[in-house]
Amino acid sequence: MHATGAIITGFVDNHQSGILTWEQIKEMKASGLVDFISHTVSHLDLGTLSTADATYQLQQSKKELDSELGQDTNIICYPAGGYNQETIQIAKKFRLFLWYHRSWTKWCCRKRSHCFGWIDDTAPL
Ligand SMILES: [Zn+2]
Repeated sequence: MHATGAIITGFVDNHQSGILTWEQIKEMKASGLVDFISHTVSHLDLGTLSTADATYQLQQSKKELDSELGQDTNIICYPAGGYNQETIQIAKKFRLFLWYHRSWTKWCCRKRSHCFGWIDDTAPL
């Protein structure tokens, strides 16, 4: 079994209840069973943000994941599936590509308070 965890870096930094800690995330990554991708800093709808705010959400989350996990993060899961044409351009600039899994939007982004985000990516699409 292999899983993908989409991390909201600001929630981890704030030690939000029910959210994995960086120590737990590192341990899971070291197991080789879980990969971690960006789910932005604050779980806001990127399609509604200014250029500066959307840039921050994408750039900062990538930067933090890269430095904490020693990886080159290149996949983004847009919170609630929200984006516009500009979001895509900004994401491209940081070499972040869209990750989409149907079951994700079913149970992650609909319930924001529970969106610590990880799914079993061996589950059928
Ligand atoms: Zn979400």
